[in-house]
Amino acid sequence: MKNPSLIVDLQKLHHNAKTIVKLCGDQGIGVWGVTKVFCGSPEVAGVLVEAGVSALADSRVENLVRLRKHGFSSLVLLRIPMLSEVREVVEVADICLVSERTTLEALNDAAKQRRKRQQVVLMVDLGDLREGIFYQQAFEVFSKLPHYECVEIVGLGTNLTCYGGVIPTTETLAKLGNLAKRLESELGWNLQVVSGGNSSSLDLVHRGLMPSTVNNLRIGEGIALGREAVKRDPIPGAYQDTCVLQAEIVELQYKPSVPEGEIGQDAFGNVPQFEDRGWHYRAIVAVGRQDVDPDGLTPVDERLEVLGASSDHLLLALPDRHGLEVGDVVEFLPTYGALLQATTSPYVKKVYQG
Ligand SMILES: *Cc1c(COP(=O)(O)O)cnc(C)c1O
Repeated sequence: MKNPSLIVDLQKLHHNAKTIVKLCGDQGIGVWGVTKVFCGSPEVAGVLVEAGVSALADSRVENLVRLRKHGFSSLVLLRIPMLSEVREVVEVADICLVSERTTLEALNDAAKQRRKRQQVVLMVDLGDLREGIFYQQAFEVFSKLPHYECVEIVGLGTNLTCYGGVIPTTETLAKLGNLAKRLESELGWNLQVVSGGNSSSLDLVHRGLMPSTVNNLRIGEGIALGREAVKRDPIPGAYQDTCVLQAEIVELQYKPSVPEGEIGQDAFGNVPQFEDRGWHYRAIVAVGRQDVDPDGLTPVDERLEVLGASSDHLLLALPDRHGLEVGDVVEFLPTYGALLQATTSPYVKKVYQG
């Protein structure tokens, strides 16, 4: 087998997706399954659809194009579109998230040319300061929007815990629900979707505290790693080991734990610091920053410790030789960031099992 490899257990992913679809479904919340952390993988998409997600969502047009080619429908574009890609967006996305009037106009023009209606979810910023019209201004801004011939506003959405780290609460998300209600009662809007965020909103659902006005979540990490995304607590009944990174030992030697000589900058401009624990066994594993975020790797074997990494080499400390040899494969569990990097790195082989 080629190394490094990312082994993705599709049965565990299916189980996680089903668990979350049920958790949310019991509270009247539909789930859009987010494929971006798997680079829009059709294998993963198939599993998510089978588990009952109501749409597939990805941040990249290229990934949606791939999913469409594999026959998937109900596709949502998560990243607010670039003006330079609106034609492709209209081509491939059934729904896209939008926060700019200019973009609505461009989408309307592109949709008109294609003789289609583009469905959009308008994004509202509840304080996290990433995309969306700031909630205090949203009603006024929305009330001034013209009627678009080929753009249909089907919902409101928000995104939390992405830039500002704002934790979703009942009060915060009620602002989105109340805005939706006001748009319906005062402006006669018909909003099918009130999308209350991403995996960071799962804890609120789990505790039964999601306002009833929220009827949709967009879930990537929760399915991929079986964790909510505020404190990274495990979701009850879900697997946290769906994905394993395998990499190969290329050197295993007995060396000091502190470098010898005058210490300057390392390969990335940092001045490293070292704790002296005497001589120990150290392994070099053939995986690095070109493949993965090394800070987001936890060895499956708890006796191994990641010391650091450069572009292509990961250093491990071993308590003793404990049976490892050059050529052996070491397994790691990735964080969300490490997984994202592994799936997008051309050097990492992806293996979908089950
Ligand atoms: C990535 C993304 C999501 C999914 O986030 P997770 O934390 O992986 O669940 C939802 N919405 C938007 C806009 C995103 O970019």
